[in-house]
Amino acid sequence: MGLLKENSIYALTQEDLKFFLGANDFSLELAPIILQNLYKKNKRTKTLSEKLLSALEGNFSFSLPEIKQVSKSPDGTIKFLMGFPDQKTVETVLIPFHKRFTVCLSSQVGCAMKCSFCYTGTMGLSRHLKGSEIVGQYVVAANYLRQELGQKPISPNIVFMGQGEPLHNSEEVLKAINVFMEPLGLGIGPRQMTLSTAGFLPGMRKLADFPKINIALSLHSPFNEVRKELIPINQHYPLEDVLGALDELDLMKRQFVTYEYLLIDELNDRKEDADELEKLLGNRPAIINIIPFNPFPGSAYKRPSKEKVESFKEMLVERKLRTMVRTTKGSDILAACGQLKSKT
Ligand code: SF4
Repeated sequence: MGLLKENSIYALTQEDLKFFLGANDFSLELAPIILQNLYKKNKRTKTLSEKLLSALEGNFSFSLPEIKQVSKSPDGTIKFLMGFPDQKTVETVLIPFHKRFTVCLSSQVGCAMKCSFCYTGTMGLSRHLKGSEIVGQYVVAANYLRQELGQKPISPNIVFMGQGEPLHNSEEVLKAINVFMEPLGLGIGPRQMTLSTAGFLPGMRKLADFPKINIALSLHSPFNEVRKELIPINQHYPLEDVLGALDELDLMKRQFVTYEYLLIDELNDRKEDADELEKLLGNRPAIINIIPFNPFPGSAYKRPSKEKVESFKEMLVERKLRTMVRTTKGSDILAACGQLKSKT
């Protein structure tokens, strides 16, 4: 098997396809029909001529990641181990939410950020994923929903919260976002996508070039000293700089930045933490998302009790901070936040 070529069909926007069609004497009007065929949004889509099909197949790879393993949790979460032709693998997770699914995509094989609470961080970075490999995870997961579960073709929402720091691979992630947004392809709106960053400042500075997707920051502590222990890159990119970069984002009306707060027993669940969070976020368009820590094999931290989670939430609400507690899904199959790991 050859490597997934850079000229994968899954890396192409309508503009790219038009460029190809024009250069090969095909009508530019075929571009949307190719996209509709590729993503099977409309059963009545016109079929493509043999000549065009063979031109496409001769120039582009159509290969998708291969499902190596599927794990299902009784709560409806489905975790895939997806493999690429170079034998690298990543995990992709489908999370049920009301009547639809959200797909959690990986952006790298492993991760260089080494967050101390994260299973992926123990792997180190093996390589970046290409835009087409990020789109490929989505296509494979959505096909699985349709074929195996008979789901209607409602596009799952997307979170870039799987393996990897998406802004450490910002160029390829942006390519994937542009493909996701193609109206005649997958047609996923920017507000249906959320990118989560650990605060990788060089990548955050590129967010100005991104469509207006939702942004989440892994905050986890309002104190640099504690945050540095949890997210080592905080040594180079301290909180004040990271929050400053978020302040510069051109948000839409009523758009908030989500601050993820992994609640760890006896580490960041004190009154001082709530007071400092109020100082930091009280005047910012912020939603705090409390995520009770999900243990993984060998992890040094403990999950707080339900009562402690509730009382920390109360402290934040009293301080007029918009706060939610994320219900953990898929922790029994190591599919929850910070639990993803695959062979590199
Ligand atoms: S939490 Fe995210 S950024 Fe940190 S090591 Fe894990 S995958 Fe990487």
